Amino acid sequence: MPQPSAASVLPPAIAVPTVKISHRGADRLKQGHVWVYRSDVVSAEGIAPGSVVGVVDERGKFLGTALYSSASQIAIRMIARQAVADWNALLRQRIRDAIAYRERVVRDTNAYRIIFSEADFLPGLIVDRYDDLLCLQVLTQAMEAAPVRATIVSELGEQLKPAAVAERVDARVRELEQLPTRSSGLLQGQKSGTVFSMNGVRFHYDALEGQKTGAFLDQRENYAAAAQYARGEALDVFCYQGGFALHLAQHCSKVTGVDSSRPALEVADQNAALNGREIEWIEANAFDLLRDYADAGREYDAIVLDPPAFAKSKRNLDTALRGYKELNLRALKMLRAGGILITCSCSFHVSRSEFMEVVADAARDVHRNLRILENRTQARDHPILLNVPETAYLKCLIVDVTC
Ligand code: SAH
Repeated sequence: MPQPSAASVLPPAIAVPTVKISHRGADRLKQGHVWVYRSDVVSAEGIAPGSVVGVVDERGKFLGTALYSSASQIAIRMIARQAVADWNALLRQRIRDAIAYRERVVRDTNAYRIIFSEADFLPGLIVDRYDDLLCLQVLTQAMEAAPVRATIVSELGEQLKPAAVAERVDARVRELEQLPTRSSGLLQGQKSGTVFSMNGVRFHYDALEGQKTGAFLDQRENYAAAAQYARGEALDVFCYQGGFALHLAQHCSKVTGVDSSRPALEVADQNAALNGREIEWIEANAFDLLRDYADAGREYDAIVLDPPAFAKSKRNLDTALRGYKELNLRALKMLRAGGILITCSCSFHVSRSEFMEVVADAARDVHRNLRILENRTQARDHPILLNVPETAYLKCLIVDVTC
């Protein structure tokens, strides 16, 4: 964790409420993680939901400062190893640091994630930028507090001068965190739509429509990587608003995108027009379509598989792995020799090695040999904290299908 500036650090004597955690919880923090589960909280009496708290071990040793949730299984999310005298000042500093990090690592786009929760030491806050629009998501009680929200919007405004700031609400997360219901909408400004560009490809964006915060920005660098290799006839399965398809269309002679969401395909079609591309969009269940196409002996030179997270928890891991296996098997059947498979998994619960094993298994079943061209992850504006495995979730393999 970066050190807070001297002005916001005081000795542990500072008057914030204190949460005592178990030996196991303290060990977890010592290993570099930033979460403590409720089962490792020994005492948190009288602590208001969303408070800034000092964290101590069972012997009373001070371990750092955290944000407390009274509802989530993740009771404690660390924000500093020291005492924090001025959370407001630290919040502003962290926002500026997150912006500065993107200035160093983000290229060829005006749409990217500015704040990625734990990975930016701002647990519970996500902010995406789409050209001159900002879109934020609040995921925890501490980030929901009115003064905290006001500081976030004010600091983002000062630093980035957006035309508007929108909030997108994930009703399920708010329910789990016992936050009052709230609807998505503009927090500041009037503008909700814009056109952004990444890797030279243009996209429509509407802050009040679509899934997640609007686009799948985590795939941005993978789009460009995939476009390097794909040629000939391409199929983009689970295409949403056409992220991969539009990039592949730069080099492929024919591109087809498949998704079960009609609204997503309507935007995909507008995006194709915006870029002067002809792409075929098919509204279908990907599993049915892949089975039918594979049975009919259709062939492609490039196939993208980018399904939604099949494993929402460890419990449905087996079903998820079967789903990945089936998709990869059908796709591999349809790829010509020399073809390219771009296959992704965004389920944190499916590890990289499990995912690679599934793809390898599918390849064995259809007697194809695969060579890994690239073994990729999320774009670098979605940083991965090495000691917080949960921040690494996206797998994107680009493989060459030989004989
Ligand atoms: N590749 C996209 C992101 C895909 S997100 C991009 O880069 O932007 C997953 C997509 O899968 C969503 O658009 C969702 O509508 C679609 N989807 C979910 N289940 C599906 C199914 N059974 N068949 C087809 N599409 C499905």
